[in-house]
Formats: sequence, C-alpha cells, structure tokens
Amino acid sequence: MRTIVSTWKRPGEVAIKAALIKSNAGGSMLDAIEAGLTAAEADPTLVAIGKGSLPNTDGELELDASCMLGKDLSAGAVCALRGILPAITAARYVMERTNHVMLAGDQARRFAISQGLTPQNLVTEEIARRFEMFLVNPDQARQYVHAVEDEPPHDTVTMLARENNDFVACSSTSGMPYKMPGRVGDSPIVGAGIYADNEAGCAGATGMGEELWKACASFRAVEFMRNGASAMDACNEVAQIMRKRQPKSLEIPCVVLALDKQGGFGAATTSGTFELWVAEGDSLQRHDFVPQS
Ligand code: ASP
Repeated sequence: MRTIVSTWKRPGEVAIKAALIKSNAGGSMLDAIEAGLTAAEADPTLVAIGKGSLPNTDGELELDASCMLGKDLSAGAVCALRGILPAITAARYVMERTNHVMLAGDQARRFAISQGLTPQNLVTEEIARRFEMFLVNPDQARQYVHAVEDEPPHDTVTMLARENNDFVACSSTSGMPYKMPGRVGDSPIVGAGIYADNEAGCAGATGMGEELWKACASFRAVEFMRNGASAMDACNEVAQIMRKRQPKSLEIPCVVLALDKQGGFGAATTSGTFELWVAEGDSLQRHDFVPQS
C-alpha cells in the first residue's frame, strides 16, 4: 500500500488531492508528490507556497524546495529561487540532471530556465497590496498575517511517501513571511527540512526554519527510527528535545513528521496545533496534533 502525507490544513489538502490523482494514474511516488506540490505552488490563494505567497522585505518571492529519495540518498534542492514555478520541479532537476545537491538564487533561476521552466511573475495583486501595507506598518502587516489566515502563515507543504519500504521526502515553501532577502530556512536543507533513507524511514519538517535547522530535525527523527523508534515516538522525541533545548521553538510551532518501516506515520509539534493529511491507499484523513507534555 502506498502512503502519502502532506502538511497543514488548506495547502496540504490541495497538495495531497493532486498527488493522489497522479498516483492513481500510475506515476512514481516522486511524480505524485511533485504533482501535489506543483498544484499547491500554482494556487495563488495559498500564502506560504509558490504563486501569491508572502514576500521578503524587498517585496520579492524567494522560493525554497527540495526532494530526497531513500533508495540511494539522492537529493536535489533550490533556494532563494525567484520567479520560477514549480520550484519542486527545479529541485528535482537539480537532483536528476546535475551532480550537485543545491543551486541558489539567480543561478538556480538560470538553471531552471535552461531546463525549460518559464519565468513568471509570482506576485499577485493581493500580495502587492499586502506588501504596501507591510511598507507602511511592518508590525501591523505581520499581525495581519496571523489574524486573517485561518491557519498559520508558516504553512510550507512538506510531503512524505512510502511504498514497499521505499521512501521519498519533498518540501516546497516561500519561507517565513517578510523574511530578510536571501534568508533560507530548513525546507531545502537535507537533514533539516527533509530526509529519507530506506534503511530507516523518512521525515520532514515545517515551522520555524531556524530552529528546525539547528535541531537537524528530519535527520534526527530518521536516526531515532533507525534505532528502533516508531515514527510517532521519533517525532515526539525530536519535539521534546527542541522544547527543552531551544526556547524559541515554543514561540512559533516547529513540526516534525515521519513515516517508519513498520507502516506507521507520526508527527509532533513544539507548540500550537498542526494538521497532517494522511492518504493510505484510497483513504484520506486529516489528523491534528498538539504538543505532548
Ligand atoms: N520552515 C519554513 C521556513 O522556515 C517555514 C514554514 O514551514 O512555513 O522557511
């Protein structure tokens, strides 16, 4: 049975439904996840991924994306990518068509264009309007993000898949709203935002990227599974360590999610509520997580 998971209520639903359509049509796990993230990136109403997401303090969208295959640890990523969709496809091309793991900024854009992706304006009218608001009053704009969205603005879509103990992990995001230009979070970083190893399982992260990166959250969860923990226990363990050692992780949710080799899934958050979509075969369900004491 194929299991696919996807993060956060609204973007996660868009992504997992598109992934299931692709999966049912017969694509590989990577094809399915790429289709899911591509759909979420293209949806201009999702504020933390792709077109129409919240920009940096220069008003520009800088996208981060990554993918990793557990069968041979191959990985690809782009960071601070401007004006290109799908960022996840650019990351996949880095993995499949270069000898490198990550390309950054203008050079990532140049590579993506050379591989056939078309440059486009990702800043919608709504986002331009909100950026004007940010310029007038940054604090108010940041608060507005929290007040009007029906879920947190840090709703990166991270997706994991498992089939016959083969694992894939991918992530796509525009990063934290109104971030410093050039800032890169955990999502495109192998070991922080994603990790997959068929000998142990796979994991991903979403939330405050700086804290997740310092914790090497995804790698750490996979290592707990390598040592025998279930996906749920591995995620709880990582969240507990972060809560204890990284006080900032109590201010903004830091989430880790995982799939194990026993057929289980898990997720844990350091604060707030986190929603995970889980598709097992044809059944699709949402699970909500709160911090464990
Ligand atoms: N982890 C992402 C970052 O820090 C944000 C998110 O999950 O939405 O860039």
